[in-house]
Amino acid sequence: MPKASPSFDYGTCMACRACVDACPFSCLEDRKTGLERYNKAFPEMARPEKCTGCGLCAAACPVDAIAMLPSPAPGA
Ligand code: SF4
Ligand code: SF4
Repeated sequence: MPKASPSFDYGTCMACRACVDACPFSCLEDRKTGLERYNKAFPEMARPEKCTGCGLCAAACPVDAIAMLPSPAPGA
């Protein structure tokens, strides 16, 4: 069973930071810039090696902008 990791729908994300704060392992950071809406930085995976695939980030998202998708196999 491959590990899952969060995939962000930036068309839906409102840059609220709830997912960043929800991650118990500080995997996420709101540092993705270049998206015009809200004039904010959007979340992205900063420390994938620490992600356990727990899904707490996705559960915390108020607009369902995070899908948990299978991670690529190591070295893929
Ligand atoms: S799945 Fe869990 S460990 Fe991975 S980024 Fe989301 S909250 Fe953090
Ligand atoms: S919780 Fe959802 S809406 Fe908020 S920053 Fe994360 S992905 Fe975006």
